[in-house]
Amino acid sequence: LTYCHSGFSRIDEFPTKEQLTNIFNSYITKYIVIQDEKLDILFKNDLYFHSIKTMRELEIDPHKYYEDDRAALLGYFGDAPIVLIKTQLHLSEFTNFYNAKFNDHDTQSQPIGLAYVISRFHWAFKYCSRCQEKLTFQSTTKTYLICNKCNQEYYPQIQPAIIVMVTFEDLLLVCYRRNNIYTHVSGFLEPVETAEQACYREMNEEICLEKSQVLSLTQQNLTQPWCGRYQSLMIPFHCILKEKLEFKETKEIKDAKWITKEEYLMAAERESSGEQKEWVIPSKKAVARKLMDDFFSDQK
Ligand SMILES: [Zn+2]
Repeated sequence: LTYCHSGFSRIDEFPTKEQLTNIFNSYITKYIVIQDEKLDILFKNDLYFHSIKTMRELEIDPHKYYEDDRAALLGYFGDAPIVLIKTQLHLSEFTNFYNAKFNDHDTQSQPIGLAYVISRFHWAFKYCSRCQEKLTFQSTTKTYLICNKCNQEYYPQIQPAIIVMVTFEDLLLVCYRRNNIYTHVSGFLEPVETAEQACYREMNEEICLEKSQVLSLTQQNLTQPWCGRYQSLMIPFHCILKEKLEFKETKEIKDAKWITKEEYLMAAERESSGEQKEWVIPSKKAVARKLMDDFFSDQK
């Protein structure tokens, strides 16, 4: 969810039963608890990470969950193992994943995002589409599901998307998306398309821009995993135009506008204060915002 490096590392070797017992008993182990049906995440005492003490308070026995195929070791934060627990409990402390309050530059976002992606994947893929056998979770460090009858493996689908910041001189073009948010052109890649082709196609579909109007299109060094209904990888680009585009409404974008640094600063202020009567820009969690921040910070 964030664009910073989190310090969280995956593991590639399956731990022995003894190692797993030690992990589940250790006070340094951190648990991420996700509700199995609604995919809500446990947010208790200002934390998404819970200790063995919290697990006991909630009457969750990690060993039992492991045996029931509903616990998985996700990786490590330094020395601390991070374990996903998928529970059928219904507690008032669960919160919708979309409302999860991860902090900006939050080091916790990556394992929590991973826990959510795995839970969502297992929620959506239950049976083998070749032979209808029930798929099983390996309860290991791997995210895939396997069919024990025909050996077909299923992996979480990652749908790459491009996001293009369109500028002309000191101005930025922002498009209306939803919930009062104005942001960049973006979209999923289609099969056999390059990221650059996707940029030109999306710019044409969303803002009616022709390739001949483009001065330069450059990939930015800031890819960002984005988890939600679709698990995506955002690939950012910066497109500089030869001339200022006159925006006309398209099927996909109702409104777009050119903004100055001053207007950007005011929109950023409204976003951070939660005052959303007027239009805002994306939060600092998003690579979309990072692109804007970088573009305007280079201006006086
Ligand atoms: Zn099968």
